[in-house]
Amino acid sequence: MTTTRNLVVVLGDQLDARSAAFDGFDAARDVVLMMEVRQEAAYVPQHRKRLVFFFAAMRHFRDALCARGWRVDYVALTDAGNGGDFGAVLRAAVARWLPEGVRGLAPGDFRVREALLAAVPGMRFVPDRHFFCDTEEFGRFMAAHRKPILENFYRAMRRRHDVLMDGAAPVGGAWNFDHDNREALGRDAPPMPETRRFSPDAVTREVMAMVRREFPDAPGTLEDFDLPVTAADAAALLRDFVTRLLPHFGRYQDAMKRGQAFLFHSRLSGPLNLHLLDPREVLTAVLANPGGAPLNAVEGYVRQILGWREFVRGIYWHLMPEYATRNALAAGGDMPRFYWTGATDMACLREAIGHTLDHAYAHHIERLMVLGLYAQLLGVRPYAVHEWHMSMFWDAIDWVSLPNTLGMSQHGDGGVMGTKPYVASGKYISRMGDYCRGCRYDPAVAVGERACPFTTLFWEFLARHQGQLSRNARMANMYANLRRKDPGELAAIRRAAETLRGA
Ligand SMILES: Cc1cc2nc3c(=O)[nH]c(=O)nc-3n(C[C@H](O)[C@H](O)[C@H](O)COP(=O)(O)OP(=O)(O)OC[C@H]3O[C@@H](n4cnc5c(N)ncnc54)[C@H](O)[C@@H]3O)c2cc1C
Ligand code: SF4
Repeated sequence: MTTTRNLVVVLGDQLDARSAAFDGFDAARDVVLMMEVRQEAAYVPQHRKRLVFFFAAMRHFRDALCARGWRVDYVALTDAGNGGDFGAVLRAAVARWLPEGVRGLAPGDFRVREALLAAVPGMRFVPDRHFFCDTEEFGRFMAAHRKPILENFYRAMRRRHDVLMDGAAPVGGAWNFDHDNREALGRDAPPMPETRRFSPDAVTREVMAMVRREFPDAPGTLEDFDLPVTAADAAALLRDFVTRLLPHFGRYQDAMKRGQAFLFHSRLSGPLNLHLLDPREVLTAVLANPGGAPLNAVEGYVRQILGWREFVRGIYWHLMPEYATRNALAAGGDMPRFYWTGATDMACLREAIGHTLDHAYAHHIERLMVLGLYAQLLGVRPYAVHEWHMSMFWDAIDWVSLPNTLGMSQHGDGGVMGTKPYVASGKYISRMGDYCRGCRYDPAVAVGERACPFTTLFWEFLARHQGQLSRNARMANMYANLRRKDPGELAAIRRAAETLRGA
């Protein structure tokens, strides 16, 4: 019997054949282990498209490795003997192969890392070179800054990786062009682009059938499944983005439009987070700029990839596991039930939840300034918002969802991801899109029959957290406006907010 040297564990978000986990891989002596486990698919309910995306991408990756002649021990969801969670499946594989060592990339989820280590205490985690910034470098950044914010981190990354630099100065004379990136879609807006689609092949169709069978109560729809599930698909999506969409990405980054889930966004987060795509390839393609995009679009996109994506991951690993317990605004509510169905009279939420149910996707401003905003104003527990997000989005992995939801969108971390809560009234939503035009509420009204729930809750949020937030210089204008409110109106707003919470 041949002995096994390394059992190389590859998780569903580590689908890169150039991964450091495979350094020195010897097809004669090493075995890859891939696991479909029910616990991951069910610890929070999972959107059907998210389930298919992960399992189909894993199976295609398995096939690509097998085509190289590598041995892959692939434990499918319905295999007899599948123990149902990572620990059980890993222990069984170790008993099967009796490897000299077990290795893999560090998982993107603290909980999964603990589970793997509990199953095999000697498992070795190889640093993940998918990211530009490793955890040690991020630790040094945190130690060097009294108030570590994205902007400082982003500039350091631009310098270190020599991206959009003109010697020591930023190209174009500024580090950011955000003022050009906040337009709503006006009359001069270009036509909405066609969505690049990928037809499911036989492997994906088999996964779709399995998901229909095994998860009959999962949220979301599986209709029109068209997601990229291979590295080749992901590369095609990237090419399409930089050629057709990037030129308009910056200008309309914050815009919203009825019936349009994607606008000029790239939809690259899913393939990036499963490592079907390397962020370096993304930067190279964006900087090559075949569509002739203006600098505000190119810089805006670079900021997302080299700045936000890396910053978010750094924060996660630097502050976990304590980070997950944070709840700076002491919010104690549950997610409203309509977040699972979209059954609400609020047109903006109906639209954003509809995009989520249809595509397991909503773009950043819908996540932050519609879905997240309402939960925050209502006072939902930040971790509950994260769990809902983990359920519903194709690109949600713990390291990226948690800081974005608990931190950026709910301010649960007390100011790590953003120096102030992202709060606004319905007027912001009205300014950035056309949702309010089809709504029974009026974004300018805070009390009464036509009061917009966002606007009511916005004033009530400010009043409720006055002690904690009114000294924040970036909220000075909001609090100056609150102080101008008539006490009678404020009392009515409080009563209306209570009614909304009870609904
Ligand atoms: C409440 C909330 C939850 C979020 N949860 C996730 C999540 O689970 N997974 C996820 O990948 N992104 C998350 N984001 C960030 C961002 O909204 C998504 O990356 C983006 O909407 C994905 O769509 P896209 O690829 O079309 O993005 P584009 O608008 O085309 O952006 C380009 C890329 O930049 C990266 N990026 C941009 N902003 C961020 C950010 N804040 N954090 C990390 N990467 C970023 C993504 O890789 C994205 O693909 C969340 C944001 C909010 C406000
Ligand atoms: S009026 Fe209020 S609830 Fe209606 S779409 Fe506008 S912001 Fe949303």
